[in-house]
Amino acid sequence: MKKHNFSAGPCILPQEVLKKAANAVTNFNGIDLSLIEISHRSKEFVEVMEKARSLVKELLNLPEGYSVLFLQGGASLEFLMTPYNLLKVNGKAGYFDTGTWSSKAIKEAKTLGEVDVFASSKDKGYNYIPKNYNIPSDIDYVHCTSNNTIFGTQIKEFPKTDALLVCDMSSDIFSRELDFTQFDLVYAGAQKNMGPAGTTLVIVKDEILGKTGRSIPSMLDYQVHLSKDSMFNTPPVFAVYVSMLTLEWLKEQGGVKAIEKINQEKAALLYAEVDRNPLFIGFANKEDRSTMNVTFNLTNETHKDTFDKLWNEAGINGLKGHKSVGGYRASIYNAMPIESIKVLINVMQQFEKQVS
Ligand code: PMP
Repeated sequence: MKKHNFSAGPCILPQEVLKKAANAVTNFNGIDLSLIEISHRSKEFVEVMEKARSLVKELLNLPEGYSVLFLQGGASLEFLMTPYNLLKVNGKAGYFDTGTWSSKAIKEAKTLGEVDVFASSKDKGYNYIPKNYNIPSDIDYVHCTSNNTIFGTQIKEFPKTDALLVCDMSSDIFSRELDFTQFDLVYAGAQKNMGPAGTTLVIVKDEILGKTGRSIPSMLDYQVHLSKDSMFNTPPVFAVYVSMLTLEWLKEQGGVKAIEKINQEKAALLYAEVDRNPLFIGFANKEDRSTMNVTFNLTNETHKDTFDKLWNEAGINGLKGHKSVGGYRASIYNAMPIESIKVLINVMQQFEKQVS
């Protein structure tokens, strides 16, 4: 029996994807070669890249005029690539600071120009999403983080702006239906809902590029990567292949619309127990709660060892909260079965019986 994997990322992937990936490492598509020992320019791998790209477009219902890239360097490199490609020389960017990852993005943007942090939830330890804010008009783009993996908050209403809108969707892409026409640039590290660590998905509206007046190093230039179909340098073949398999799996589940419904059910079940059980208290503001990362604390820390023993014995992995928040974080990404959530709820109820 596998463990119930609540890890925040890298995280749970569908079992059938892992099996197919394992087979491809020894013999890819029956060609008697491994996926990771063939050229990225081979017909076989080019087909993988094309399939992965077209699945992204199909699953997210991307309109014409948007391109899809698979890059490296994680979402962390996108923190820098965003201003390189979109911040005009002597321009200004607006940032929505909703957590650790937003602040890391802000730090990188500041190395290239002026940054206006127009709203922040730092005052309350990032347990909410700011609502009433004014976005400056003299900016080149707005940057936001759709889901705050560490704090368990999620943007439901995205900032409205005439400037370009950029979103780090690392921890909730493919989890809910969104109107992508509102975004100009979206990026996401693969290692949550899409695949293993090692590749970063970038979705970009073609017409926004090449307008900064800035000289961009090749590896940081989206136009360079676009002109080479994500093969300017050797792509992370294994990560792209496993992402493709995960996207195929998602399509078989009925796509984003179907998984969103399941994600809502899973999150509602777990939050209901956090709210009902007197031994737990949710961390995030209720209306801003994430459907991907459920954060909670004990109401009485003296029972910590008892709870930790119980969930470990139940075969649960990765429940410990991020060090900056403490407590617990149950990451319940697309591939997390509802059965595992029921196991966790059962442990929470057993804990209640044991200590009361
Ligand atoms: N943004 C968010 C929302 C994240 O959750 C993470 C990683 N967990 C990152 C950015 C950083 O991603 P990477 O490690 O791929 O650079």
